[in-house]
Amino acid sequence: MIMEAKSFELNDVVEMKKQHPCGTNAWKVIRMGADIRIKCEGCGHSVMIPRRDFEKKIKKVLVRANEE
Ligand SMILES: [Zn+2]
Repeated sequence: MIMEAKSFELNDVVEMKKQHPCGTNAWKVIRMGADIRIKCEGCGHSVMIPRRDFEKKIKKVLVRANEE
């Protein structure tokens, strides 16, 4: 099964399929690993998500920390 490659790196800001209850849908990747920690850009709430789940829930990368 081939899925669209969604690459992301530390400090990238991503948009999720579901927006946070605070109304913001921009999350910054603040920790990479087997689990990804993301922080809501609106309210500062942070959550830890297994990488597999994160890759499913991510819609797109809004801001790349390293453009090149
Ligand atoms: Zn929020």
